[in-house]
Amino acid sequence: MFNTVSVSLNLNHLRHNYALAKTMAPAAKVFPVLKSDAYGHGLLNIAGGLAHADGFAVLQLEEALTLRDAGHSQPILMMAGVNDRRELAQAQAQELMVVVRSRQQVDMLRALRTQMPLGIWVKVKSSINRFGFNPDEVTDVLRAIEKQHGISVKGLMMHFPSADDLDGELEHQWTDFRALLAQTHLPFSAANSAAMLRDAGTHGTLVRLGSTLYGNNPFVAGTEFNALQGFRPVMRFEARIIGTVRLAAGEPIGYGGSFVADRSMRVGVLGCGYGDGYPSSAVTGTPVIVGGVRTRVLGNVAMNAIFVDLEPVPQAQVDDWVTLWGDERLRIDEVAQHAAVRPEAIQCGLTKKHAVRLIGEDELCGA
Ligand SMILES: *Cc1c(COP(=O)(O)O)cnc(C)c1O
Repeated sequence: MFNTVSVSLNLNHLRHNYALAKTMAPAAKVFPVLKSDAYGHGLLNIAGGLAHADGFAVLQLEEALTLRDAGHSQPILMMAGVNDRRELAQAQAQELMVVVRSRQQVDMLRALRTQMPLGIWVKVKSSINRFGFNPDEVTDVLRAIEKQHGISVKGLMMHFPSADDLDGELEHQWTDFRALLAQTHLPFSAANSAAMLRDAGTHGTLVRLGSTLYGNNPFVAGTEFNALQGFRPVMRFEARIIGTVRLAAGEPIGYGGSFVADRSMRVGVLGCGYGDGYPSSAVTGTPVIVGGVRTRVLGNVAMNAIFVDLEPVPQAQVDDWVTLWGDERLRIDEVAQHAAVRPEAIQCGLTKKHAVRLIGEDELCGA
């Protein structure tokens, strides 16, 4: 098959990012967050690239079992906890750590009749208000479960509602949680990527590292944050030029004719569109790199085609590869900003659409 799209994952960059996070949070365990198929990078691609990680964080049992089947024996945190007693038994058998965030889950734990050990994190609600207990419910929950045989409470967990917004204070987002820590003297896990970078006080004993691990900017679009400079893009997305056309001044290109040439110009047609995972909302001016030169998208993205300005790159020709993102010079964040979406929203599902090339896989041995 003639491929017009290429997805590659740089595992050296992945390991570099993980090691960098570890130096930033030296006292904590750092768990790569692998939900949504590792943010679209592929669960086992990422876990395999980080075979020596302190542990992994997933949402559901199925992901944890996939990791165990692949031979990953380190701690695994199930951030959504278990859905029923069968899952609870499996979590015990596989030595998973489970989050407890609902009354039903507390009841399941209380009904346990086995002696098998089970590590528990009790989730406390933040203003995201999705899951977890109100701070004033936590002592009851702890009392209800800590006498159960086998159960060991590893700590209290919370998730910041807006650590990604540097204009807002972090402090007040976890005032209640800190009061609870002072009262219970339990270890805690609070930090996602943004909180880890902002405040070492949030690290606790377990950092849950998502976006930054993959080299994405964890802050709201457009935020420059120096600490991110050291993190490298893991996923690279490229497309081939499948045709070139010359537009005369006044001619439109693409559906809807939103772009009209103001002079004669050479345009490249890429064999990739929103059907292949490029964001359909990317607008004229979204950067791409052709032959090492930054140029731009023209007009609307089609299902299987993107039009790019080849005026700055006269040497570009059919079959050349174009970087759509994942170069140190063109991060996905920039594309996401032009498309008005989060970078992760673009990445999710990508490796399910395309074959993935792993770079640096051979360097795993002895790592
Ligand atoms: C997704 C998620 C994370 C990781 O967040 P990033 O901002 O991507 O680092 C951490 N904790 C929980 C509970 C999550 O759902």
